[in-house]
Amino acid sequence: MAGAVINWRSWMLPSNQKTGRAQVATGLLALAAPFAGASWHWWGLALFGYFMYACVGHSVGYHRYFAHRSFFAPRWAEVLFTFCGVLGCVGSPVTWVLMHRRHHLHSDKEGDSYTAHEHPRLGLDALLISNYRQNHNPFKLRRALRRDRFQLWMLRHNFGVVALFAGGLLALDWRLFLFGWAVPVALTLWMSALDAYATHHWGYKNYKTDDESRNLWWMALLFWGEGWHNNHHARPLDWNFRKKWWEFDIGAGVVWLIQSASGRAKTRGRNFADGGRG
Ligand SMILES: [Zn+2]
Ligand SMILES: [Zn+2]
Repeated sequence: MAGAVINWRSWMLPSNQKTGRAQVATGLLALAAPFAGASWHWWGLALFGYFMYACVGHSVGYHRYFAHRSFFAPRWAEVLFTFCGVLGCVGSPVTWVLMHRRHHLHSDKEGDSYTAHEHPRLGLDALLISNYRQNHNPFKLRRALRRDRFQLWMLRHNFGVVALFAGGLLALDWRLFLFGWAVPVALTLWMSALDAYATHHWGYKNYKTDDESRNLWWMALLFWGEGWHNNHHARPLDWNFRKKWWEFDIGAGVVWLIQSASGRAKTRGRNFADGGRG
């Protein structure tokens, strides 16, 4: 009985190990993809998948909306963000948010959930998501889950949802599985890890912040505006990561579209009492 309780708890907790295994497995599949002899249409599907998982799910949904609550999103958009992130193997929003807020609270210091500052040089170790620390506060996890039964369900079953989706694609056509899931998921997870490292090591600062956050133009291009990371650390409540006119942020364009569609342009999100800072 005690064992069952412990297992249930471990299933509830965020698992960077699971995300880390998905990162390595999809990375190997992505390396094999160029030899599959698929036409350019399939690579177009991979790009579309990368946009849905990484831009709509990771950057706009998990980061700008769930973690920082920097804009208003209707329920349909919350559900869309959640499915895009979950199918992209980013994990459940609740645990990602807790991990990310730890990063803002303790950037480049003891307690930072990301490990960029522990690696002076870029190596494989610095890029493995399984090395991130799950040092969230269990009280905050329970409090966050009380608010939303859908998110509680998704926290418990997010890898089951991924398995059903990826398995379904594989049953239909192996190219759907490879280019509609494996390749874009690999891009999402490896770019996310590269972004977490690179934007705390290389680039320039627009703002004097008490951390090592930097702006990196090529990271912003590769990862939907996330590369303007010094701007973001200085203004975490702003959904637009752009400061100078040429700092191009595709993710901000998606936020603008969602706000236009829901008729709530430039308003802040709900549940913002804690300011989204930590
Ligand atoms: Zn952030
Ligand atoms: Zn950062």
